[in-house]
Amino acid sequence: TSYGFRKVEEGEKQPLVNDVFHKVANRYDLMNDLMSAGLHRLWKDAMVAWLNPPKRPGWKVLDVAGGTGDIAFRIVEASQRQAHATVLDINGSMLAVGRERAEKLGLAANTDFVEANAEALPFADDTFDAYTIAFGIRNVPRIEVALAEAYRVLKRGGRLLCLEFSEVEMPLLDKVYEAWSFNAIPKIGKAVTGDGEPYSYLVESIRKFPNQRNFAAMISRAGFDRVTFRNYSGGIAALHSGWKL
Ligand code: SAM
Repeated sequence: TSYGFRKVEEGEKQPLVNDVFHKVANRYDLMNDLMSAGLHRLWKDAMVAWLNPPKRPGWKVLDVAGGTGDIAFRIVEASQRQAHATVLDINGSMLAVGRERAEKLGLAANTDFVEANAEALPFADDTFDAYTIAFGIRNVPRIEVALAEAYRVLKRGGRLLCLEFSEVEMPLLDKVYEAWSFNAIPKIGKAVTGDGEPYSYLVESIRKFPNQRNFAAMISRAGFDRVTFRNYSGGIAALHSGWKL
């Protein structure tokens, strides 16, 4: 396969993304630590702190593109093991790792795992108190469709939180970040999985993703109110919040 930097059409994007995550599922958690130098843990902690899930049973979160469960497990723990989290991912290999981790952490009773597409959620309208997605929306071919689905499955009063790589807004840091992502990340990817190309594709997808303000506008267009965002690490990542009111 050769999909380093050639233009990826919408229709062929999902198979490429799926290929990447099937390949890396078993080493995904290690890769995250290496590629973000551990920063992804801080960003995820900050996301869950902003969500501040209530410490009562019956509260339900849907974690889309939830992969190996990082966000879902943090939310359940933050609720003192009261909340229920549904981890949804299009990729069965990632979910299998997640399921195993849930067992090991003793969180199986608070979590379930659903293989489905963010663009077509297999849930009724008004089901969840919160919808989270971390480093996932960038991979979805039709972002507007995913946001419309998020809005649909949330209850009134429910909240969307979206953590994603964004536009670096600090001079100098942007240069360091470019160098890191174009040189180091594919190399780390190759060293750990034997294949650097899928990671070149992921780096490219970060560059193509709308910046903080444009993404906030997309969230508003999907119907969400009180849309705000905060930057982490100078904008390497941004967390967007919106409410279904
Ligand atoms: N949220 C996890 C985290 O932060 O560690 C995993 C993020 S991982 C970078 C991206 C995930 O998005 C992968 O597990 C991939 O399978 C999933 N994904 C890609 N396209 C998807 C889609 N259309 N619907 C649902 N999940 C998707």
